[in-house]
Amino acid sequence: MSYAHRTSHLKPEGAYQVLAKAQALEAAGREIIHLEIGQPDFETFANISLAGIRAITEGKTRYTPPIGMKPLREAIADYTGHRLGLDIHPDQVVVSPGAKPNLFFPALALIEPGDEVIYPDPGFPTYEAMIRVAGGVPVKVPLLEGNNFSFDLEAFHRLVNDRTRLIILNSPSNPTGGVMPLIDLKEIAAAAQQHDCWVMSDEIYTRTVYDHASVPSIASLPGMIERTIIVDGFSKTYAMTGWRLGYGVMPKELAQVVQLLLTHSVGCTAQFVQVAGIEALTGPQDQVEVVVAEYQRRRDVIVSGLNAIPGITCQNPQGAFYVFPNIKSFGISSNVMADMLLERAGVAVLPGSSFGEYGEGYLRLVYSNSIENIQRAIRQIEAVLKAL
Ligand code: PLP
Repeated sequence: MSYAHRTSHLKPEGAYQVLAKAQALEAAGREIIHLEIGQPDFETFANISLAGIRAITEGKTRYTPPIGMKPLREAIADYTGHRLGLDIHPDQVVVSPGAKPNLFFPALALIEPGDEVIYPDPGFPTYEAMIRVAGGVPVKVPLLEGNNFSFDLEAFHRLVNDRTRLIILNSPSNPTGGVMPLIDLKEIAAAAQQHDCWVMSDEIYTRTVYDHASVPSIASLPGMIERTIIVDGFSKTYAMTGWRLGYGVMPKELAQVVQLLLTHSVGCTAQFVQVAGIEALTGPQDQVEVVVAEYQRRRDVIVSGLNAIPGITCQNPQGAFYVFPNIKSFGISSNVMADMLLERAGVAVLPGSSFGEYGEGYLRLVYSNSIENIQRAIRQIEAVLKAL
């Protein structure tokens, strides 16, 4: 059986593959510490869940406009405008089931076959998938470990040109936790203007930042909101991964095209989920801060624990809930290392190579897990690596 060429490059996400292997070991009686799946270990905050439940009991279980309910789009426009210091109109907001459709559909709306698209490597695997499905040419820019995993700007300047249609950024980053500094964003913005390209700024981890770091957005730079799609959502900040609620902020003409793609694919986002989203954005925010403070404690434990293992060096990420330790000194591939840690140490982690070519030599560990489990994982990893 043959399938359409546009699907031929699609691969499963590494996280689900490692999860399946880990679950097979668990089924055979092994105890596994899960540091592979990138989602909060907290429950959705109670006020949000209750708002969703109430909405169901009130019959808010119908179709909504494909672009999203007006009150939610107003809340998102207010919140994003306030966050970025910009005037955002609700017509610029597109609501979607999870953030992913607001990556995929703007990409489909913008990329013509043969257009070049710049994206970070290591990076979130959906970027390359959507570029290829749209028929674009993926152009990877390496991230530099020594520069907080921001873009290798020399490589970027070599690669950007008049055929570049779209530049994808993700700060704070999955898988590295790195935050791109303003000075780098300014250079990228200037190149985007010079070559007349769009920018997609995936800001889904923008609230998960440490040490009072500020996360600048390229959209706030002069002349950039007109050519930027900001992608954000509720999954990470409000522990709502399974609710499926995200959004994009973009010029309103593009929003209309994306709305058409939503109309003919998902239809709309569940109405009661959107009501819960209004509560998330407009209700109390103190729990977000509590959770981020807890992640920061865990980050400190995992970073110092990894750095204490001979042969591993680990940057101190400023955002998200990932660490991306360098394991190059062991001279084995990240795939072999991840398998070994799963089988011998009972710790599920992802090989850096599942985030692209330049992720080789690294592992990704998620620290949305208890400090006790993180400490145990470090001890078990250390025991296996010391015996090599
Ligand atoms: N962007 C990044 C960088 C992510 O890490 C994720 C989820 O892991 C998403 C987007 C997708 O988020 P959602 O689950 O809301 O679709």
